Amino acid sequence: MNLLYNSTRNGEKKATASEAILKGLADDGGLFVPEYIPKLNVTMDELKSMSYQETAFEVMKQFLTDFTEEELKHCINSAYDSKFDTEVIAPLVKVGDTYHLELFHGATIAFKDMALSILPHLLTTAAKKNRVTKEIVILTATSGDTGKAALAGFADVPGTKIIVFYPKGGVSRIQELQMVTQKGDNTSVVAIHGNFDNAQSGVKAIFEDKELEKELAEARYQFSSANSINIGRLVPQVVYYVYAYAKLLENEEIAPGEEINVTVPTGNFGNILAAYYAKQMGVPIAKLICASNENKVLFDFFRTGVYDKNREFILTSSPSMDILISSNLERLIYTIAGQDAQKNAELMAELREKGVYEITPEMREKLADFEGGFATEAECAETIRKTYERTGYVMDTHTAVAASVCAKYRRDSGDGRKCLVASTASPYKFIHSVMTAIDEKYASADEFSLIDELSSISGTAIPKAVEEIRNADIRHRRECDADCMKEIVKEILSV
Ligand SMILES: *Cc1c(COP(=O)(O)O)cnc(C)c1O
Repeated sequence: MNLLYNSTRNGEKKATASEAILKGLADDGGLFVPEYIPKLNVTMDELKSMSYQETAFEVMKQFLTDFTEEELKHCINSAYDSKFDTEVIAPLVKVGDTYHLELFHGATIAFKDMALSILPHLLTTAAKKNRVTKEIVILTATSGDTGKAALAGFADVPGTKIIVFYPKGGVSRIQELQMVTQKGDNTSVVAIHGNFDNAQSGVKAIFEDKELEKELAEARYQFSSANSINIGRLVPQVVYYVYAYAKLLENEEIAPGEEINVTVPTGNFGNILAAYYAKQMGVPIAKLICASNENKVLFDFFRTGVYDKNREFILTSSPSMDILISSNLERLIYTIAGQDAQKNAELMAELREKGVYEITPEMREKLADFEGGFATEAECAETIRKTYERTGYVMDTHTAVAASVCAKYRRDSGDGRKCLVASTASPYKFIHSVMTAIDEKYASADEFSLIDELSSISGTAIPKAVEEIRNADIRHRRECDADCMKEIVKEILSV
């Protein structure tokens, strides 16, 4: 029996996993969610001795039931290979009294690689399965990390084109250079005059534009999404939570069945939702701690039940979390509404029209697994500096938001469970903020001059991704206003 996927805004229509991956977004603008979260059908004891790739197969086959074993294994083995700089793919590092799950060992040194190195393979497999003959155009809005990871994943993949929009001035210099130097004949990168939410709303509007869809179809193109709204992004992210728990067990850091907490630095709510799915699959996770930076919409939401995006957009040193509309939260809203698509659609309409909605008391009760927290810029910097001084470990700004929130949660709640922190980027990627947090003397230094210094103080090798952009040519120079995204897309595709 196939596990089917519902749209969060329409109770009627169902899609298979491969259809959901191909579409990205449902026709009604909703997100695809599995009808139920499947259980793991292997024991933790069995998982303990499995490699990352083997674990990925055990987890993903439960969700992507219309993929054959051969197809899925091919996707997994093509994704999690020597593009990663460590054989274990997602290493677990003990830092003080927490466990950092390092998700930044892929091609672009941020956690988006965990999903975006496999998505192109899932997508091209899904296209074959559904006899799609049109060329797939991946359209992506990025707050910095998704863009490069998607470009790297899709570059020169036959039958695909990729167009990435990022907010000009809203990403780090290294992030921007990573994108504008991207190779591959099928890649385009466009800087938007606006913030990430503008870029994301623009992409959503293009997806919902039926007329454009028809024009494209005539030119034999079809859109798909590499954003974290695609279920093909979410499912691969469940894997590393299962893997991390099994490794904690194997290393005898925890006893069989022992509950742990997980803290996730959150923006679009994809990563933490994957942890929630891992819990529902059977991983003994107690609290899911959602860590925000100063854009603390989610913290306020968990505290009050009101989601209110009407507030100042703050540019922080953790730009990949500078988000006021967390798209993936819709999946959780739909779930806690008892899979009531109509109720969810009403709330999303309120969000679109008024920028705010409030969930019911019954829905709030179903959020007991979640805990919200936030860290200020000062707290984040202090966490980086103190951790470095005490342990020699250097973490990036996003991870520092989570580490800070995790420590505060522990102190304030007295909850002594062991805590896993999702470590989402390499410190090299946000090097200026990281080094300045460690010592103010670096504040005036150029990002590139700090690379060797970070390598020397942390005793870590300079990642290949950083070496590469030191001398790469700039290949993409397009810019446009947020309301001209559709025209730019047509221009790029010559339709
Ligand atoms: C994207 C990103 C996040 C936020 O993850 P979501 O799944 O969007 O919540 C956190 N840290 C880094 C480094 C990221 O790139």
